[in-house]
Amino acid sequence: MDFLSKRARRMTPYTAGEQPKDMRYIKLNTNENPYPPSPRIREAIAQETDRLPLYPDPDATALCAAIAAVEGLDAGCVFCGNGSDEVLSFAFCAFFDDEQPVLFPDVTYSFYPVFAGFYNIPVQTVPLNERFGIDAADYFRPAGGVIFPNPNAPTGVYLDIASIRKLLDYHKDRVVVVDEAYIAFGGRSAAPLIQDYPNLLVVRTFSKSHALAGMRIGYALGQPHLIAALLRVKNAFNSYPVDRLAAAAAAAAVADVPYYTETAGKIVATRGRFVSGLRALGFTVLPSLANFVFAAHPGVPASDLFARLRAAGILVRYFDLPRISNYLRITVGTDEDMDRLLDVLAALLQQKA
Ligand code: PMP
Repeated sequence: MDFLSKRARRMTPYTAGEQPKDMRYIKLNTNENPYPPSPRIREAIAQETDRLPLYPDPDATALCAAIAAVEGLDAGCVFCGNGSDEVLSFAFCAFFDDEQPVLFPDVTYSFYPVFAGFYNIPVQTVPLNERFGIDAADYFRPAGGVIFPNPNAPTGVYLDIASIRKLLDYHKDRVVVVDEAYIAFGGRSAAPLIQDYPNLLVVRTFSKSHALAGMRIGYALGQPHLIAALLRVKNAFNSYPVDRLAAAAAAAAVADVPYYTETAGKIVATRGRFVSGLRALGFTVLPSLANFVFAAHPGVPASDLFARLRAAGILVRYFDLPRISNYLRITVGTDEDMDRLLDVLAALLQQKA
């Protein structure tokens, strides 16, 4: 006998990327940053420790102000949450209804249908084009809202700002959420469009470019009425989603622009070399502007490569999706990690030949 409600029975627990403990792996499976976070966060955390007896600021005012300063926005245009997953789930709750479907690509972040399920929001998936990209015109249909990552995950393919404007214009009575988890690795952010578009919400995370996945901080940027809607939902769940240490660390991190520009630049340079190496081994690689690449080898099933890499101490992900089968998604780590991976792949492919 179990005690699950019917609601809980309908829920499918999400298994986050593998975080194994059995041996030391080169971990290229969950798009984490291979570099440490800004050294400035140590001092910020040490100072905040003295204030831990006090509840945190429910509005995360200092963190919102720090983010707003870097973005050139008012602090009233920023909402902070406990990881961008939480911010996204609040956005589904605040902006999408159960009457009309929310649109997102057929190959995209696997959590969107889960968030929709929480709130009984119908969904409609829109196929990627033949280049595995998003075509704005495919989204010109009545809907309750739109959400997509830019660059998309797990493909890494980026959508240009002119196309995002078209989506915002067509859906001017609906909220369009642009999930910019991976924007720092070469793409242009849609955030400057916020002043022109009352229906644009940009969601970001500190987990990737800012190397703070362990802290669980994400945020949204949008006009104040959208931020007020997110605060309304947040306060209905819990008034204190951002804890003191995380808020202090993130505020120090976001202000250290030179450090993060440098580490993102290193990742972009490594990605370029890695993609050339994969192509030289015969892989098809989608053009990525993220800190991961999506690649397939015509001669070997991705599941096979995944298992052999795992046995060699390297973790990646593989996808067997209806339209995109046989792909590996590989996080870009350090040059050393990627060289090791290319050597192991070359040896595996040699054995197959
Ligand atoms: N959006 C996308 C597209 C992602 O890939 C991820 C990471 N899994 C997230 C949001 C969530 O990131 P976090 O909750 O760590 O901020």
